[in-house]
Amino acid sequence: MTIPTVQLNDGFDIPQLGYGVFKVPPADTERAVTEALEVGYRHIDTAAIYGNEEGVGAAIAKSGIPRRELFITTKLWNDRHEGDEPRKAIGESLDKLGLERVDLYLVHWPTPAKDNYLEAWQKLIELREAGLTRSIGVSNFLVPHLERIVAATGVVPAVDQIELHPAHQQRDVTTWAAAQGVRIEAWGPLGQGKYDLFGIPAVKDTATAHDKSPAQVVLRWHLQKGFIVFPKSVRRERLEENLDVLDFTLSDAEMAAIDAIDPGDGTGRVSAHPDEVE
Ligand code: NAD
Repeated sequence: MTIPTVQLNDGFDIPQLGYGVFKVPPADTERAVTEALEVGYRHIDTAAIYGNEEGVGAAIAKSGIPRRELFITTKLWNDRHEGDEPRKAIGESLDKLGLERVDLYLVHWPTPAKDNYLEAWQKLIELREAGLTRSIGVSNFLVPHLERIVAATGVVPAVDQIELHPAHQQRDVTTWAAAQGVRIEAWGPLGQGKYDLFGIPAVKDTATAHDKSPAQVVLRWHLQKGFIVFPKSVRRERLEENLDVLDFTLSDAEMAAIDAIDPGDGTGRVSAHPDEVE
């Protein structure tokens, strides 16, 4: 099994399928990431706010997998956008992860009410120049936020990591990103289990037709859309199931039926609106 990679706008490759550890309890993280690495994941998505970077680092260290084969992402939390804070924050993350640099560092949320995401982005550019992260990107940025940081710095983020699943496809952001060469990372790719995604006929019936699970069909849809995904589970059988999506292809009609799940009015969002997160 070879996990496909996609190229970022800075020339580096990222595995299109990874493992995300949001809400993986710190005490369980080393075990979960160890199992993820054992079953074949090489891309891990964490964040300072998840409180589990140490567990990710312990699993990496014990795995013996060469560093160049791993792709590790972490994120700058909202209260550390200004001054020396971003440099301190990435230093703390690197210590916990046991790494000299991460592969991708993200501004976690724009927190527009504080009006400091442009400063955070400028700081990430410096962190990249200092070699503390190979690539830089953003998360939960909407088109106005993206346009502002690009206009001010001329540096286009490698990725925008946004809530994206069949009921909430964020077509305004994805359209902008495609035109600008920004890769979309879809968080909550399975809708975080917050609606009956797996019971929708376009998902359920397609799963039956391909002898796959509904989760596998949804993950396959993401991959064929070109999105980067890192579904979360702490169960080994689901870690394996979520990787086992490379041996079938959804037809154009099957893709279109899943595309049609989102009415396009924003009502499918299952988590916070980026303008409301402080
Ligand atoms: P997700 O859509 O991956 O859903 C996770 C839920 O789906 C879990 O409850 C799990 O039990 C269930 N699940 C996983 N595999 C399954 C399967 N095969 N069959 C049935 N159920 C299954 O949601 P998520 O964890 O929020 O998102 C994935 C990752 O995205 C996170 O771990 C994190 O790395 C990232 N994320 C980023 C942000 C951000 O603000 N940047 C926010 C949330 C999540």
